[in-house]
Amino acid sequence: MKIIAGNWKMNGSRAALVEMQDALANIETENTVILCVPFVFIAASNNSVAIGAQDVSVHDHGAFTGEISANMLAGIGAKYVIVGHSERRMYHGETNEIVKQKASMALSAGLTPIICVGETMEERNSGKTMEIIELGVRESVPSNGGDVIVAYEPRWAIGAGITPSDEDIAAAHSLIAESLTKMGRGGTPILYGASVKGSNAKQIMSIPHVDGVLVGGASLKPDDFIPIITATK
Ligand code: PEP
Repeated sequence: MKIIAGNWKMNGSRAALVEMQDALANIETENTVILCVPFVFIAASNNSVAIGAQDVSVHDHGAFTGEISANMLAGIGAKYVIVGHSERRMYHGETNEIVKQKASMALSAGLTPIICVGETMEERNSGKTMEIIELGVRESVPSNGGDVIVAYEPRWAIGAGITPSDEDIAAAHSLIAESLTKMGRGGTPILYGASVKGSNAKQIMSIPHVDGVLVGGASLKPDDFIPIITATK
């Protein structure tokens, strides 16, 4: 059984969510399907698949205009929240420390954080991939609290239509698994994300320690998302 999580980013509509949920209601799979949609669509979900958000505040409540707390997300039916996505790190300056605070807030509200780590192209070119991944896990994943999911997303491959080699994905996931075990979090699911599509999903999910995928662009339309979900039963 794999975890297939979609990240709609700032795309979609209520109608698109209804259409996706109707389409997903008819497929046969033992995989866990999660849709992380913009905040405003969460309450429109019919709960036929697990719903997640794409960010959460580090604060519990108070004078933080525009922020949404983990308890608010849980209150409208979210079960998961992505934290530390590359775009949050890049456009909003989120550090590992902030990501860990967000993950902890999610855990305290009963949400499962999907914690993203991964290297930029610059870091890759300077041979720092493994260091960045190990640091990302050690500094972004809370050492206690409930269950988490970790997503390895090579930042240079997101939305780019390219993926690392199978060997590179295997090495990254094996390092993440090892780091999580050292933290007492052995067995944590580890997703691969960046340019996953119907044509590469099966191969990627056959790589050791790849427990599923986090999908951006190809999660927006049923015709693209369903082949990924059914790539492995
Ligand atoms: C993402 O943004 O999390 C992602 C994986 O995007 P894409 O699948 O479009 O590369």
